[in-house]
Amino acid sequence: MPLYDYSCRACAHQFEALVRGAKVPVCPECKSEDLERLLSMPVVKSETTRSLIKRETKRRDQRQGAEQAHAQRLYEANHDD
Ligand SMILES: [Zn+2]
Repeated sequence: MPLYDYSCRACAHQFEALVRGAKVPVCPECKSEDLERLLSMPVVKSETTRSLIKRETKRRDQRQGAEQAHAQRLYEANHDD
């Protein structure tokens, strides 16, 4: 089921909604159906995150010995998700 970002034209509220078939979601704030579907940002974000992780991993692999252990600790401290 696709998850889309919507912007409400009536109250400018932005929200995400799961869309099943041709069903039109309503604004959770004002119940308006006058919505604008925004570009699918989550896909773009995950692509960016993936390439960042790849770059981070490559950089880490180039480090050796104590420096590598230090970088590992820094990486874990900054990426605890
Ligand atoms: Zn609204």
